[in-house]
Amino acid sequence: MQILKTVAEMKAACRAISRTEKKSGFVPTMGALHAGHISLVRTARQQCDVVAASIFVNPVQFAPNEDLAKYPRTLQEDCRMLEAEGVDLLFTPDAAEMYPTGASTVVNVAALSGRLDGASRPGHFQGVATVVAKLFHIVAPDKAYFGQKDAAQVAVLRQMVRDLDMDVALIVCPIVRETDGLALSSRNRYLGAAERQQALALQRSLQQVERLFAQGERSSKKLIAAAQQVFAAEPAARVDYITLVDWATLLQVEIAAPGHLFAVAAWIGATRLIDNVILSRPGFLASGGDEVKVVE
Ligand code: AMP
Repeated sequence: MQILKTVAEMKAACRAISRTEKKSGFVPTMGALHAGHISLVRTARQQCDVVAASIFVNPVQFAPNEDLAKYPRTLQEDCRMLEAEGVDLLFTPDAAEMYPTGASTVVNVAALSGRLDGASRPGHFQGVATVVAKLFHIVAPDKAYFGQKDAAQVAVLRQMVRDLDMDVALIVCPIVRETDGLALSSRNRYLGAAERQQALALQRSLQQVERLFAQGERSSKKLIAAAQQVFAAEPAARVDYITLVDWATLLQVEIAAPGHLFAVAAWIGATRLIDNVILSRPGFLASGGDEVKVVE
């Protein structure tokens, strides 16, 4: 595995590949890797000739009051894991490399960026879109791999790729969970033992919603109320949002239908966690094109 730290080196390595017939896949991450990240890498490995990954804790997607300074950094172990998965290129720039003094261009996916996590984390999706746009220009992959875990992020990036005519297919991979159902997240490391139990409320609320939906409940109000009830039984968890939306627009829907996204965000102590389920898991985005596909 080649590790490249500068934009120029990474571009040169990626351009050398794109001059060949080889298809490239790209997995952007912020490191502190777990089995969720590795599932993206494995899917990329299966689908592409060459796999590139990046590890960059992107400062511009963190608000000043957020956890940028304490975000877990485990670069050595991450490199070992990626190497073991057969990753070919790893890009690990520092902040000054990605945002040299004077950098002032941002990518703002209007409207979508203010919904779901964007409503509670102002500026977050602008930071995400900006860094992913830069990474796409540097790497120029044929396919890029993202987790359904960050479903709103997928919606924002998908809109960006369309609006800016980017030649990359976004592949969305299913959420990888612990055996007890907690969605894997780099931020789970922040949880104490009691909080780790409280965090299960997110998954429990989604299971309850899935059950009701399978039984025929279609009222979004009732599904949301059922999820709220699960959280009411876990008072240590503080709900940020519980919502049912169209995955493409992130706009709330009144009547639930297969393909809609039921998403929750909650604070467990000082840690904000997110999770979601696509109702009925149809395998494809409800109102999206073929390029955004849930890999089963
Ligand atoms: P992050 O390092 O948190 O920015 O995540 C990098 C990529 O891994 C994103 O596309 C995430 O959606 C994805 N990811 C994070 N957690 C999971 C998970 N539990 N299952 C699947 N993908 C995940």
